[in-house]
Amino acid sequence: MNKLNQEVSRYIPAELQNLLDAASSSVSQILNKALFGNEISEDDGTVLFNCRDNEKVTDRTAIFAVADILRQRSKGDYVTFVVNRNINFTNICYMGCRFCGFAKRKEDSGSEWLEPSQVVERAQQAWDRGGTEVCIQGGLHPKMEGNYYRELVLAIKAALPDMHIHAFSPFEVWYGAVKSKLSYRDFLSDLKDCGLGSMPGTAAEILDTEVRQKLTKNKLSADCWEEIIRTAHDVGIPSTATIMYGHVDEPKHWAAHIALLREIQKDTGGFTELVPLSFVHTDSPLFLNNPNSVRPGPTDHEVDLMHSVSRIMLNGFIDNIQVSWTKLGAERARNMLSLGVNDLGGTLMNESISRSAGSKHGQEITAAELCEIIRSAGRIPVRRNTIYKTIDIYKDHDPMDVVPLVERESDPLNFLKMFPETAE
Ligand code: SF4
Repeated sequence: MNKLNQEVSRYIPAELQNLLDAASSSVSQILNKALFGNEISEDDGTVLFNCRDNEKVTDRTAIFAVADILRQRSKGDYVTFVVNRNINFTNICYMGCRFCGFAKRKEDSGSEWLEPSQVVERAQQAWDRGGTEVCIQGGLHPKMEGNYYRELVLAIKAALPDMHIHAFSPFEVWYGAVKSKLSYRDFLSDLKDCGLGSMPGTAAEILDTEVRQKLTKNKLSADCWEEIIRTAHDVGIPSTATIMYGHVDEPKHWAAHIALLREIQKDTGGFTELVPLSFVHTDSPLFLNNPNSVRPGPTDHEVDLMHSVSRIMLNGFIDNIQVSWTKLGAERARNMLSLGVNDLGGTLMNESISRSAGSKHGQEITAAELCEIIRSAGRIPVRRNTIYKTIDIYKDHDPMDVVPLVERESDPLNFLKMFPETAE
């Protein structure tokens, strides 16, 4: 750490010092370590994640304040977002992950399969609406050929050479490589040559064998997920990182998961961001079949802690912490901006995975609406590309206004209109 950074990391405002003094000594020690720019351990992370109970209000307040100051040191007042479109090319999947409310069988009503030409049509629509990224994921259709993935990338790049393709979870890469009889390295290198720009680090769920056994019968092991992600980074494909929490997991799993992501990042530098994903229980067979032993998603306190403690554990390693508005809704997403979050993700245009699992919030938020949310929190909206290069800073102008692609059931910004004084 250089001298200036050392000085910055030693400056603790009086208000924060008061919060640290009021916190329990174990929590205060850990937070001081983070404030002085030092890495906190996995055990430290577990202590912070365990501050869930009501009697630990002072500890939680100190954690939130430290997450916020670390975010401020790293990102200032800027809050980023990307204009993108989510395209799920199929929801047909026979993998039978127990938590999944998205997959359908071929004969089910609502099952869908898109040919590459249909995906290109949707990508073109996104481009015409100012999108710079398509985020593409799908189920593992039993009949699909391994070369579908490369054909999809080639078709989009032929029509839209400048569109960034952010696609295929490690589970899909595993499936495509097996179907193509290629090593992960060869499969991924070929996708990169075809034009794949980056990968979603989904299918991580919780990187713990026992938890994965309950969630997915461990069909994609934690080791396999890590191997594919490390290989992707190694061949030059960056990825996001995710954690899906609030089901059969505990704070110790969260800390171990985040610590593992940090170790991978130290070696590869390939993660662009962390996106905590709340488990949506409403249509999830895992919850519906085991309502007494599976939690219905994280509590509000756990959501707050997940974003804050992730910021603290990943400080200096993964500095973009994204909130998923599709999981939490616009109002909660805005609240997260004071708890360590600096990114609101994408406009998505028509997200369907969260909605299939029962989330009420999916579909689309326009760039203009994201700017409104960010400004209402007193921050400066910045449009970025997928790999966090700045495209535009909306200090004194607004983004292009577009009508949402699909008619929405409700206005996601209603919460701002109910309290007009916060909307300025
Ligand atoms: S999580 Fe993915 S792989 Fe598992 S059943 Fe659902 S769509 Fe299939």
